[in-house]
Amino acid sequence: MQERDQRKRKAVEYLGSKCADCGYQTEFLTVYDFHHKEERTGKKEISYLITANVGWEKLQRELDKCILLCANCHRIRHELEHKNIPYSGLSCVSGEGNMGEQSPATGASLP
Ligand SMILES: [Zn+2]
Repeated sequence: MQERDQRKRKAVEYLGSKCADCGYQTEFLTVYDFHHKEERTGKKEISYLITANVGWEKLQRELDKCILLCANCHRIRHELEHKNIPYSGLSCVSGEGNMGEQSPATGASLP
């Protein structure tokens, strides 16, 4: 196994080894992405830090600002960010294709 893969595995394990949104777990590390919880604060690409030869503790500090997502959920998050829709618990395995249950009018029912 390449050193880079080992570092990613360690990072994935650090964040719980499963997708924070849908709970998806797999041994295939390529499925996992690191998503910054706060988009604008000191954003550094985790994938860059994993590839670059930074110390684990520095990497860990960035990981503390991130959640682990599978590729599907990561795309959904970015789609929502792109459209300025607040994340409200959508996930890629919310039932068996009952996407229609969640209204696209996000927040409409909130007081
Ligand atoms: Zn997911």
